[in-house]
Amino acid sequence: MRQDQEDPYQRRSAQVYAAADRAAGSVASPRAVLYDAVLLDRDGTLIEDVPYNGDPEKVRPVPGARAALDRLRAAGLRLAVVTNQSGLARGYFTGEQMWAVHARVEELLGRFDAWLVCPHDDADGCDCRKPAPGLVYAAARELGTTPSRCVLVGDIGRDVGAAMAAGAAGVLVPTPVTRPEEVAAAGWVATDLPAAVAEILRRQQAVQPSTPPTEPVRTALVVRSDSAGDVLVTGPAIRAVAAGAERVVLLCGPRGRAAANLLPGVDEIIEHPLPWIDPAPGPVDPEAMRSLSTRLGAVGADQAVVFTSFHQSALPLALLLRMAGINRIAAISDDYPGSLLDIRHRVPVGVPEPERALSLAAAAGHRLPDGDEPVLRLRRDAVPPRPADVGDPGYVVLHPGSAASSRACPPEVATRIVGALADAGHRVLVTGGPDERAVTARVAAAGGTDLGGRTDLAGLAAIVADASAVVVGNTGPAHLAAAAGVPVVSLFAPTVPFGQWGPYRVPTVRLGDAAAPCRDTRAASCPVPGHPCLSGVDPGDVVNALRTLAVSGGGGR
Ligand SMILES: [Zn+2]
Repeated sequence: MRQDQEDPYQRRSAQVYAAADRAAGSVASPRAVLYDAVLLDRDGTLIEDVPYNGDPEKVRPVPGARAALDRLRAAGLRLAVVTNQSGLARGYFTGEQMWAVHARVEELLGRFDAWLVCPHDDADGCDCRKPAPGLVYAAARELGTTPSRCVLVGDIGRDVGAAMAAGAAGVLVPTPVTRPEEVAAAGWVATDLPAAVAEILRRQQAVQPSTPPTEPVRTALVVRSDSAGDVLVTGPAIRAVAAGAERVVLLCGPRGRAAANLLPGVDEIIEHPLPWIDPAPGPVDPEAMRSLSTRLGAVGADQAVVFTSFHQSALPLALLLRMAGINRIAAISDDYPGSLLDIRHRVPVGVPEPERALSLAAAAGHRLPDGDEPVLRLRRDAVPPRPADVGDPGYVVLHPGSAASSRACPPEVATRIVGALADAGHRVLVTGGPDERAVTARVAAAGGTDLGGRTDLAGLAAIVADASAVVVGNTGPAHLAAAAGVPVVSLFAPTVPFGQWGPYRVPTVRLGDAAAPCRDTRAASCPVPGHPCLSGVDPGDVVNALRTLAVSGGGGR
């Protein structure tokens, strides 16, 4: 469903619930960082699934639903139901019967701020039947917010797919009918509706500091080692620290330096490899460690916030910072930190990396100011103009490579994807680093333009920013796309959790086998012969994914 179309059922729902909308509009406290609204699937999520039910007497809420929804209402979150009702198209019940069912749902579960119904069948090819994202867009619009400030709870892959395709968060609450591959593909899974609600509220709370910093922060030292993607996903948290400090100095590694140059809020960068983080470290050089400690001491930081991903330790650096005389150190650490940390923060697995980092910033007393959305963002002045010879905006970028080969798209698959996209009328630019030229040339020969080795990271950001969509694995350019708000077809090798590393707050379709044997191995090179998680991607599914993301061939969007 597009903005210029109105479905009669949705128009009616807007009329019925306009008054509730207005009542929820006045909020004096600071805006929540993450979410304004929770969207709920109906059958199998809020109420027991009675196929094609037109009878209010058969409405049975799932256990704990009323109390869970009231918790969300009490937290100031707005609620909408987003539901596929193909029984309308098939004539199994009437619109009047359906609204009688919905009235009964509200009697049992309380008021919803909006009801969004897709009355179509799969054969209708509408834009609102989940997993198409139309209902999510419509719900966000009716609730006066954007999809990225919504989280959708549903019981099947269609629900999660619709949420992701709109750039919303999606929580899967499986039932006995949920297929195992749907559970594997979901980035966020909860055992039941009350557990989903508890985790939504926990994540919302975790990124808001309970208290401001005890003393003002003049200079903050923030740390994120490792590669470009790691640095980019830490961007929102660094902006939160920058909002509460006069000056921000970032320590990064050589592999993340180009990304660090792109981050807003950073006043100064110190580049130094950390041998306990680098994936291919040299031996520890005691003199280099001593000089790093001295250099960090010279920063004069009155607070250090050490960001890491879930398999990295902040403690060796914390020791160097202590030796440098830094008194206030915050980091995430499951390992016992002794007296190395002043704020030892802990985060459950599965939280998106940007939120994980934001929650550490919050524990250190910082939050994103109102008006700065928790999305990835780049400094405008650090991104060069797009090269003129790549053509007008509206192309699709395919980036087949990755620093870790386990997360790269196999060249033969990428080649077939380029052919299929070209056949569907898309202009395709194939990008890659200087060491990926052989692959990009081979892939682009199927019908795209080879830009392999043409750009540094900032130049790639410029090209990505004017794309209609980016087709890419779990690697840096996926995060560049997220930072530009450009939709992503994510060819995601499941070596790390999708919920933590998937493109953040941008319309996304995930492809690839989420249950492949490489799952959760964190392997840098694929441990399974044939790289099965991505070698089975059907190029036709990439074309369909672009359609779901409303990216049309012929350069339009
Ligand atoms: Zn529809």
